[in-house]
Amino acid sequence: MRGQMMDTPLLIAPLIETAAKFHGDVEIVSRTCEGPIHRYTYADAYSRVQQLANALASRFGIGMGDRVGTLAWNGYRHFEAYFAVSGSGAVLHTINPRLFLEQIEYIINHAEDRVILVDLTFVPILEKLAGKMPTVEAVVILTDRANMPETTLVNAICYEELIADQPASFDFPRFDENTASSLCYTSGTTGNPKGVLYSHRSNVLHSYGICMADSLAVSATDAVLPVVPMFHVNAWGLPYACPMVGAKLVFPGPRLDGPGLAELIEMERPTILAGVPTVWLALLNHLDEIGRKMEGVRIAVVGGSAAPEAMIRKFQEKHGTFLLHAWGMTEMSPVGTTCTFKAKHLGLSQEAKYKLQTKIGKAVYGVDMRITDSDGNNLPHDGVAFGHLKVRGPWVLKTYYRREDETLLDDDGWFDTGDIATIDADGYAQIVDRSKDVIKSGGEWISSIDLENAAVGHPDVKEAAVIGVAHDKWQERPLLLVIPREGATLDKQGMLDYLETQVVKWWLPDDVIFVDELPHTATGKLLKMKLREAYGDWLTKKAG
Ligand code: ADP
Repeated sequence: MRGQMMDTPLLIAPLIETAAKFHGDVEIVSRTCEGPIHRYTYADAYSRVQQLANALASRFGIGMGDRVGTLAWNGYRHFEAYFAVSGSGAVLHTINPRLFLEQIEYIINHAEDRVILVDLTFVPILEKLAGKMPTVEAVVILTDRANMPETTLVNAICYEELIADQPASFDFPRFDENTASSLCYTSGTTGNPKGVLYSHRSNVLHSYGICMADSLAVSATDAVLPVVPMFHVNAWGLPYACPMVGAKLVFPGPRLDGPGLAELIEMERPTILAGVPTVWLALLNHLDEIGRKMEGVRIAVVGGSAAPEAMIRKFQEKHGTFLLHAWGMTEMSPVGTTCTFKAKHLGLSQEAKYKLQTKIGKAVYGVDMRITDSDGNNLPHDGVAFGHLKVRGPWVLKTYYRREDETLLDDDGWFDTGDIATIDADGYAQIVDRSKDVIKSGGEWISSIDLENAAVGHPDVKEAAVIGVAHDKWQERPLLLVIPREGATLDKQGMLDYLETQVVKWWLPDDVIFVDELPHTATGKLLKMKLREAYGDWLTKKAG
C-alpha cells in the first residue's frame, strides 16, 4: 500500500523562494572583490536570481543538464548563481581556484562547462586557459560596468549588464528530485581530480541535516559567516541551509585573513562561523595581537582537518565560543559527523568536555557509519578498536562523475572514506589518521594527527606536521616538522621533552626539523605526500 502524501520533489529553487517569501527582509552581507561591503535582502536576492535564470536561458540557452562553471569567492553574485543555475535544472560546477592550472583546465573540460561566471580576482586564470576550453561559449565577469577589467578574454560579458534588463520573474521548473544540481571536484593529491555530482534531493536533505540542533543548529535567529569557500563543497552546504531557515548570511569575499575576518565579525555580529583550523588559527592569533574578544559568536564550526584541543580551549575561554568539531568530505556533501554533547555529558568537568570535543562526534542522522578491518569485517564500537571508516546515506556519493564503470562501494554498498577511526559506545567517532598517513612502526600504528595536535599545544609552535619515514629496524618512524612561532627559541630537545608529557614514549618522533613553511593542498590540508618525497629517507640517510 502506498502512502497518500504529496509527491513534492526536494528541489533547490524552493529554498530561495521560501526565504524571499517568509524571510524577505533578512540580510545577505558580502565583502566584495571590488572593495565595498554590499548588503541586500533575501527578497532582493530572489529577484536577481530570477533575472540571472532568465539571462542564462535567453542568452545562452542554458537548461536541464547544462554545466555552468563558477570561479568565485563567497559573495552575493555567487550566491545568485547557486540558485539560478541549479533552479533552472542546469548543473552548477564550482571550480576551486586553488587547484593547479592544469587541474582547472582538466575539470572545465571534463565537466564540459558551457558558461563560466568568474570573479575579478580569477580572470587571469581563465586568460591563461584561453583556447584550451573548447566547450566554453562565454565568460561572465561578476562585476558591474565601472569595474570591468581590461581582459584578453574574447566573449567576456559584464554580469550586471547581463541581468539588468531581464524580467525579475522566472518559472523554475519542477522535475525529479534526483536530477543533478551541482558538481564539485576533489582536490586530488594524486591523479586527476574526481567529480562528485550532487542532486537536488541530496542537497536539500543535507540542508535539513546540518540545521538540526545537534549538528550545526542553524536557525532564523542566526547570522552565519561561512569562511569555508563556496568554490569547494558548497561552503559545507550553508548557502542552501541558511535560506532554508531564514538565517542571515555574511560572506567574507576574498578577505579570509585574521584582520579581515575580525573586522567583519565585529561589524556584522555573526552567531555561527564555519572554517578550517588554519583560518581559525589566523583569526585567534590576530585577536590576541590586538587584545580583542569576539562578542556573540555562539558556535565556530571547524572541520576539514582535526581541531587541536588548544584551539577548542582558546575559543571557549577567550571568546565564549563553542568550537563545534565536524567531519566530512567532498564525497559526503560534506557533513558526516558533528561533536555536540548528549544529556549525560552536561555534568562533565570542563576538562572532560574539551577531551570529548576533540572527537569528530556522532553521525548526523542520514549518515550511517561503521568501521571495518582490512577484510571488511565489522569492528566493535568500543572507542579502542580502529579501522576503515565507511559511510552510506542519501548524501553520500555512489560513483564519481563520468567514472561510472568503476566500482566504488564495497559489497554491502558502503563508501570507504579513506580515514581510519574509532567509534565509541555512544557513537562518537575519532579520526586516528588518513589510511595513507598513519605511521606503521613495528607492528603498531601511530597517529600522525595525534602527534601534530600534541605538538601544536606547545606555545612556541605555529604549525606542525608529522610523517612516517623509512626506518631500518621499525619499518617506519615518526618525523616531526615544526614551524616555530616568531621570536621563539624552541629546540629539538625542548620539543621532545614537551611531547613526552603528552604522548606515550614509543610515539616520540625520531627527529625534529624546524622549517619556515609547510606545503598545503588546495583545500588547506598538509600535503604529506610532498613531505614524504622530501624527507622519506631522512632517518636511513642519517643512520647510513
Ligand atoms: P579534498 O581535500 O580532497 O577536497 P575533502 O575536503 O573532501 O578532501 O576532505 C576530506 C578529508 O578531510 C576527510 O576524509 C578527512 O581525512 C579530513 N577531515 C575532514 N574533517 C576532519 C576532522 N574534523 N578531523 C580530521 N580530519 C578531517
